[in-house]
Amino acid sequence: MKTCTKCGKTKPRDMFSKNAASKDGLQSNCKACSAERYRRWHEQNADAKREYSRLYCEANAEAMREYNRRWREQNPEKERERHRRWREQNAEKAREKDRRWREANAEAARAYGRHYSKANPHIFRASAARRRASLVQSTPAWSDGETVARIYRVAALATRAFGEQYHVDHIVPLRGKNATGLHVHCNLRVIPARENSRKNAKLDEQLALDRAALARSLGALILRARAALEVL
Ligand SMILES: [Zn+2]
Repeated sequence: MKTCTKCGKTKPRDMFSKNAASKDGLQSNCKACSAERYRRWHEQNADAKREYSRLYCEANAEAMREYNRRWREQNPEKERERHRRWREQNAEKAREKDRRWREANAEAARAYGRHYSKANPHIFRASAARRRASLVQSTPAWSDGETVARIYRVAALATRAFGEQYHVDHIVPLRGKNATGLHVHCNLRVIPARENSRKNAKLDEQLALDRAALARSLGALILRARAALEVL
């Protein structure tokens, strides 16, 4: 038996770790006390490490950014994977980020869109085909094709007149979250493309319900576009 100098308890010899340097060949602290001391040291050390890392990051924010940038540059595969995972887990945030980026970089976004569709023709063709199929599925037999075509011509006219891309937008989205819109003239409006991407498939009930207001806004747009073109 041996008494631990730490807890003062007397325990069998195998409750003490070996220490060749000591007289009786055992450590002065029992195993339980050693384990406890190690645990506490580890805990304090982890705290210290976290605190140090925080202080370091604060003091070296610029250096860290540079380091991270270089790491991303040197590990493009890992970075892409990290980015992909983040987007998967933060779909909502990712969409919002994309939207803000497009807003701040309209020209670059268009260029990227062109570049992307050229570099990925299969994806682009597939999504165009899906859009067409969705249009066909959403077009009832009674849809007034002539009026629909006229609305698309208004979008082209506005694009030409205002020097900005105008889109035909489905007020109730064809594949909306809570409703399924139709490809009919009374569900169409002409708006700047930047507004279209912002809407994010949300239902604009006011316009969907107020057909007269819709017609008025379309008529007003035609008049404004014609005036703008005449001025030019
Ligand atoms: Zn002890």
